[in-house]
Amino acid sequence: MKAWRRTLLPGWLAAALVCGLLTQANAAPEARPNADWIAYPSWVLAKFDSEENRTDPDPMLRWQTPVVTISAPASRIGVLREAIAEWQGPGLPRLRIVDPERDPDIAVQDVQVLSRRDPDMLGETEPVAEDPPPLGPPTTYATVSIKMTTGLSPAEYRIVLTHELGHALGFWRHAANPHWLMGAELSSEQSPHVSAAERALLAQLYALPRSTQQLAKKRRPPLS
Ligand SMILES: [Zn+2]
Repeated sequence: MKAWRRTLLPGWLAAALVCGLLTQANAAPEARPNADWIAYPSWVLAKFDSEENRTDPDPMLRWQTPVVTISAPASRIGVLREAIAEWQGPGLPRLRIVDPERDPDIAVQDVQVLSRRDPDMLGETEPVAEDPPPLGPPTTYATVSIKMTTGLSPAEYRIVLTHELGHALGFWRHAANPHWLMGAELSSEQSPHVSAAERALLAQLYALPRSTQQLAKKRRPPLS
């Protein structure tokens, strides 16, 4: 009790400290939205698979931070670097590899079985929000999961990972052009590299104004 009494502060100083603490608590940084979700403009839809797009357009995720973090199993860091390099360019977010424990924006995992519904699936990209990501105001703190099937050859793995990364960067749909890496199927027709046209299209989407393209209603983006 004696020690406690000795440490008592004058009333005004205690009040100031309390105020200071409160101020600091209030000023604690909130998790700022790192992504927004917009509707594909019609000129973009025209470049994507028409059958997939026959219903209403799905929202596109756009990262809003200049640097997007991504993690992968240690054994996949080399191929991840190659995949990232395919998607870097003017107007596109920069991707930085971080440890899986660092709460990355995009997390790449290897899994034995991807989809029981569709055994042909090689890779899968989906948002892993606790709630369906809201559309409209950019209030989402988005996290995206990329799951890759094990058992792919190194060359296939690189192509599939690059393709899934295209989804994670915003292309939720598949390209109508089968030669594009964002085509729906891994085939000999498909280019093993991202085309300049795909990079340019993605950069155009990132350049769209935030306010005008948002969807009003809520809808969970589908698996890709
Ligand atoms: Zn895909």
